[in-house]
Parts: sequence; structure tokens; C-alpha cells
Amino acid sequence: MSSSTKYIFVTGGVTSSLGKGIISASLGKLLQSRGFSVTIQKFDPYINIDPGTLNPYEHGECYVTDDGGETDLDLGHYERFLNVRTTKANNITTGRIYNNVITKERHGEYLGKTVQVVPHITDEIKRNIFQLGETGQYDFIITEIGGSVGDIESLPFVEAVRQVRWDLGANNAMVIHLTLIPYLKAAKELKTKPTQHSVKELLSYGIQPDILVCRTEHPLSMEIRKKLALFCNVNLNSVIEAMDAETIYDVPLLMKKEKLDERVLAKLKVTTKHEPDLEQWKGFLGKLKNPTSEVSIGLVGKYVSLPDAYKSIAEAFIHAGAQNDCKVHLKWISSEEISKETVENVLGQLDAVLVAPGFGERGLEGKIEAIKYVRENKIPFLGICLGMQCAVVEFARNVLGLDASSTELNPKSKHPVIDMMEEQKKITTKGGTMRLGAYACKLKKGSKANHIYGDTLIHERHRHRYEFNNKYLEQIEEAGLKAVGINPDSNLVEVVELKDHPWFIGVQYHPELRSTVLNPHPLFVKFVAAALEHKSN
Ligand code: GLN
Repeated sequence: MSSSTKYIFVTGGVTSSLGKGIISASLGKLLQSRGFSVTIQKFDPYINIDPGTLNPYEHGECYVTDDGGETDLDLGHYERFLNVRTTKANNITTGRIYNNVITKERHGEYLGKTVQVVPHITDEIKRNIFQLGETGQYDFIITEIGGSVGDIESLPFVEAVRQVRWDLGANNAMVIHLTLIPYLKAAKELKTKPTQHSVKELLSYGIQPDILVCRTEHPLSMEIRKKLALFCNVNLNSVIEAMDAETIYDVPLLMKKEKLDERVLAKLKVTTKHEPDLEQWKGFLGKLKNPTSEVSIGLVGKYVSLPDAYKSIAEAFIHAGAQNDCKVHLKWISSEEISKETVENVLGQLDAVLVAPGFGERGLEGKIEAIKYVRENKIPFLGICLGMQCAVVEFARNVLGLDASSTELNPKSKHPVIDMMEEQKKITTKGGTMRLGAYACKLKKGSKANHIYGDTLIHERHRHRYEFNNKYLEQIEEAGLKAVGINPDSNLVEVVELKDHPWFIGVQYHPELRSTVLNPHPLFVKFVAAALEHKSN
């Protein structure tokens, strides 16, 4: 391991959903803005090898990395905050750890030994922690431990953290515990007892947290801070208040005010390079909070009851809105609500419509109906992945008059304008077998997409099995839906755009996964601009 790399672990206590991902990303941002290189890793305690097979209703969006990892949505926050790419190595589950150990066992690597949680599973966890450090690229590795301390599933991870701490010493590894200080309305009091218990639990595993980050709805008084410090054995200045924020993008500034980064540097005996330079970040926040215009954009999808299912899309609109000094009101619309009869009512007042990615047949006809409406009424449209596929089906049906479909919707379709690639047809297993990760795409000179990107060669991330069926390419292009983005290696269609429409673009990839605070995605930026334009006409 690189002797200079420092390891910061973030554990959670009392309840889940305290926002460990945002705290980790915010700390990462502060360290980065002081000139350090930082990456963030997440350990998830569940048995799935990766979250690719999880229902978005249960777990939110699956975030895809450039190298084709299907990962937890917290990695999206890491990239959006740090503007640095993550990889498969940044998200490890219990399933992955066990899979690695069992594979090694079958290969005879532990011959003669009983393979056990300690040391074999914990060693494999440690190997995955140090793997990032050993690249020599990072001054800090922040490792977020999913779940809450005390969960059966997270025990081996907590034990590995204890060992790393012991192996490397307090100057090289530290633990931040994120906890909740509940407010009892009747007593008008903030309560520290749950935190005391959760620290006690951590102590029973041999871990003394160095810093407490306390989620709270009310400011922590000096009295409460002192109590927490005394009962949890942390320095008074290491009790950090984390008040509910207006936007997640405020959190780095709130953490700076509470001096979280300073405490971390002091504990790890790192001399600071310079004060955090957050000018650009503040510039973004200034624009975000002072919009001069607003638009309403419909997000037509299947998983609209859980906003986390489209997390990256929602965040990309926040970045793009700020860039346009425009507040984007996202209207979440279930595609099942849309039919010939309702479409005007549901979409009529919107300034633009995005049709979302998704899987399976349910709600597909509603998406197609929505696209027909925006195509005919010249409302700006962005179709992402399934949304692009639906746009092709809609066009084939209503413009070419074909009895067309996607084979995902109708395997026996007479005109499968969206179909599975031959290689995909052979695949029988489900996990990690889609077309995943970043692929190149060549944009036709002079196309709208070319103008938007300001480039002819782009790389964007994929996660799908079905593709534009090139048998129909000529026919579809002739009628006005142009394939303006093509994968140079496979000839697969990546981008379509409609002639004689102010803004109608479908992309087979996921642009939302690459939008960050400092690098808002051009497609989203220009889509919001098109919505503004549409509104003013
Ligand atoms: N279900 C479609 C496919 O597998 C689209 C996937 C997506 O929207 N991510 O090709």
C-alpha cells in the first residue's frame, strides 16, 4: 500500500438514510478543493454481486461507471461532487467479496485451510480497500460502509475497518461516525442517547470513532455537544453538526463551516496545502439559488413513485438549470397515465418532455403516445435509452405506417425496429450482461447533436440489451428521423434526431450519468435552453 495514502472510513448509526453518501462526497469535495486527490468507495452489505439486478423501486437507480460497473447510486453523488470518474473498484458488495473468496477456494488458493470470515473474508475486504490506495493516485480514500453499525451483514466490514485502523495507526486511518440526534417535540429537546448507544456498539467491535457527524433538525447547543463529546470519547471540536440543508450541494459549505475537513487533516496529521478553493462551487450555488426564469419539464417514466429511481436525471436537470439561470420544475409523470384520451391534458402545459430509461413492457404504450404528441406539437423532446427506442417505434408506426415494435415489447413483432443484438440473444444469465459502460460515438457533422457537444467524437455510458435495428435505417432516415450518432466499431445507432422539429433527440446511452456540478451535461443544458425557448414562443 502507498504509505502516503490516508484512509477515512464513514460508518452510520441509529438509522439508515442519514446521507452517508452526501457527507462522504462533501468531505471529499473539501479535501479536493484544498488540492488533494481523493476517491470515494462504497461497501454494500447485501449478497447481490452488484446492484444491477435490484429493482429500482427498492434500491433507486443503478449507476453505471465508464468501465461498465453496475453500481450503487451513491457513486453518482461522488462523481457529481468530485468531478472525478469512479470505477468498478469503487463499489464492492458482500456478494462480490464472498464470490472472490469462494472462487479462490475452488482454485486451491487456501489448500489445507478452513476458509473463514476472519481472516479470509476480512482480508479480501482489506485487499479491496487497499487496491485503490495502491494505484498511488490518491492522497485520500474515503470508504463508506453501507447499512448501520450493528447490522449482522455489515459486521465483517466493520471488523476489517478495525484491522486497517490497527495496521496503519491513527495517523493513517480514521473513522467518522454519522449519527442522528432526534428532536422530541413534546419535550422540546434534542436527544443524545441513541448516538451514545450506537457509539457503544461501535466500541464493542473495537472501534472508537474519531469524529461524530450529527444529523439534526435543530442546531446543536454547546451543552449537547459537550454531552456527546463526554459520553462518546470524542473531542469537543470533533462533534460536527449536520443540519438539514436546502440542497445537497450546500452540504460541503456547511461541513466547511463546521470544520470537518480541518478536523480530518488534524487527526491524520496532514499539513494543509491551502484553504479550500470553492469559488466555482459557490458560483454554481449562486446560480442555482437565484434563477431568473423557470420551465416545467415532464419526466415520463415507469418508476416515478420513487424519485431515487431517476436520481442522475433529476440531478442533471439541477446542473443544467443552474447553467441556464433557470429553475427546472420536474413533473414526474407515470407513463401508465398517458393514453390517446389523456395525453393533451397531461402534457399540454409542459415546456419540454423527457422520456426516461426503463425495462419491460408496462407503460410502454403511454410513452409512445407521449412521443407522438410532442413530435406533432413540436414540443422539445429528449429520449434516453428506452425513451429513444420508443421514439423510433413511434416514428415507424405513425410516420411510416408500419406495424412496428421493439422485441422487448412484442417478441413476435412484424417490424422489430428495435431488436436484440445477436450476441445478446445467446446470453442466458442476467447479472452484468447488458451492453454496459462507455462506448464511442461518432456524430455527423452539422447535426444538432454535433453542435450541442461541440465535438464529433464522444464517449457515453450504456446499459441496455436492445438496439436500433439497422435493417430499417434507410427507411427511417428517409422519412426524416436521422441517425446522427453511430458507434464506429459496431455501426450501432447511438443518436437519432428529427428533421423539421425544433428539438427532438433520442440517445441510446445515458448522458445523465456524466453530468456533474462543474461539468453540466451539454445535452441537458441545451434541452433546458430549448424548453425556455419553447416557453417564450
Ligand atoms: N429496456 C431497454 C433495453 O434493454 C432499455 C434499457 C434502458 O432504458 N436502460 O435495451
